[in-house]
Amino acid sequence: MELPARLSRVQARINAAALACGRNPQALTLIAVSKTQPASAVEQAAGLGLRHFGENYLQEALAKRASVAAAGLTWHFIGPVQSNKTRDLAAGFDWVHGVDRLKIAQRLSDQRPAGLPPLQLCVQVNISGEASKSGVPVDEAADLCRQVAALPRLQLRGLMAIPATDDTPAFARMQALYQRLQAQGLALDTLSMGMSEDLEAAIAHGATHLRIGSAIFGARG
Ligand SMILES: *Cc1c(COP(=O)(O)O)cnc(C)c1O
Repeated sequence: MELPARLSRVQARINAAALACGRNPQALTLIAVSKTQPASAVEQAAGLGLRHFGENYLQEALAKRASVAAAGLTWHFIGPVQSNKTRDLAAGFDWVHGVDRLKIAQRLSDQRPAGLPPLQLCVQVNISGEASKSGVPVDEAADLCRQVAALPRLQLRGLMAIPATDDTPAFARMQALYQRLQAQGLALDTLSMGMSEDLEAAIAHGATHLRIGSAIFGARG
C-alpha cells in the first residue's frame, strides 16, 4: 500500500473512533511520526495535507527539517530529552512532548531563542509505571506541571503518555489525571496519546494529539 492509501485508512479510523464516542474528528491533531523516514516522505505527506510531524532522534530530525522545503509545518519532538540536547531542541522544534524533569524544562526555557514564540510543552507521565520508561510518576505530575507552567519561555500545553502495550486501562487513567489537573486550575488543552496500534482507545479517552508513525508511513526498516 502507498502512503496516500495508508493515510486515508488512518483518517477513516480516526473519524470512526471519534464519531463512536461523540467527538469531532476535526478537533483532533494528527502528528505524523516521521522518524527514520526520509525528507521525501515528509514532503509527500505534507502534499497530502499533513502539517504536524513528530521525530525522536534529534540529529536526524534537524537534518530532515533543514532539507524539507514545504513551509508551515509544525515539528514535535516526541522522544526522551537528555539535558545535553536541550539547546538544539529549544531552537529546532515547536513542541516538546517528552519532558519529565524540572531541570530539563528550565534548560529549554532558558535556551528558547528570543525571536521564537514560547516552546509548546507536554509533561510525560509514566502511566503504566514501567521502570524502563521515561515519564513522571502519576502522583508527581501536578507539581511538575505547576513548576513548568511558571517558566517564562515555555507554554505548558498538557500531558503525554506511551502506555504499555497490554495496558489499555492506562488511557482512562490518563484522562482522569488530565481532568483532575484541569480541575485544579492548570490551563491544559493537550492530551498526547495514541499510536498506530491503539489510536481508537486513545480517542475514546480524550486524546487531542495522536502520534501515528507506521500506519501512515509503513513499517520502519
Ligand atoms: C515511534 C513513536 C510513535 C509512533 O509509533 P507507531 O506505532 O509507528 O505509530 C509515537 N510516539 C512515540 C513517542 C514514538 O516514539
